[in-house]
Formats: sequence, C-alpha cells, structure tokens
Amino acid sequence: MWMMFQVIPIMWKSVRPSKVADMPAVVNTFWLPKGYEGLTFFGHILTPTQELAERFNSGYSAIKNHEMIHLRQAQSCGDSWLRFYLLYIWYWLKGLRMNRRMKHAAYLLNPFEMEAYRRMHDIGYLQRCQGGAEEWRTYAKMPMKRRLSMYQNNH
Ligand SMILES: [Zn+2]
Repeated sequence: MWMMFQVIPIMWKSVRPSKVADMPAVVNTFWLPKGYEGLTFFGHILTPTQELAERFNSGYSAIKNHEMIHLRQAQSCGDSWLRFYLLYIWYWLKGLRMNRRMKHAAYLLNPFEMEAYRRMHDIGYLQRCQGGAEEWRTYAKMPMKRRLSMYQNNH
C-alpha cells in the first residue's frame, strides 16, 4: 500500500532531466502497468521486481538504455519532466484509435516509444544525443498509418 505514496518524494526531490546523470531503479508494483518491466519516473526507474531492479542498476543493458533514452527525450522537451509526460499522454491518446488495428498500438506507436525501441540496442546512442534525443519528432510528424506500417515491417 505504501508503494502508492512512495512516488511522492521521488517527484518532490526531482531535478531537471539535464541534471540527472543516472536513473536508479526502485521496486514499485502499484504504479506500474501490467506487463511493464520499467517506467521512467522523474529521474527514477520504477520496476516490478527486485531482480529487474538489480538488472537496471548493474550497468549497461538494452532495457536500461531504453529508459535512459526517455530521459534524453525529456531533455529535448524543454528540459521539463512535466512537458515530457504531458506530450507522452497526448500522443498516447492520439494513438488509442489504432488499438483496434493492432494490440498496444497507443503504446507502441507513441513517437517516444518508437525512438526508444528503435535505439535501445544502439550502445552509442545516449552518448550521441547527450543534449537531448530528437528522433521522436520525426515519428510524431508521420501519419498514424505510416507509423503502423513502419512498425509492422520491422516486426
Ligand atoms: Zn518506453
């Protein structure tokens, strides 16, 4: 139950995305949607199990890279967590209508997720976009149908 409130100090003590060097993973089952392994939350990574938390905290991995790309994206949203989350929700809402065409489309066709999934296996990506990740803007400009066919061609 206290996990519900555990996120308050994380938000309270959060700093601008550009000031975050690394994001520690903390176990939290309350705020994590089912099936999620990690969720970038104001400079921390929420994760459902201790085992996953250790995987996140033990250095480089593709899933860690994925979450760190979200940090870089927050930097490119005016260096503001709030602006990043508002935009994230906006794109998610816009993608909802695609859910009848493809399972989890609102999530998978979200421009932020498209960049994170596409670049998470690229070891040098974080380094190359230290000032902010911008590729999501390209996906955001694409019509939803094009994003869908792009996704389907890659999977
Ligand atoms: Zn993601």
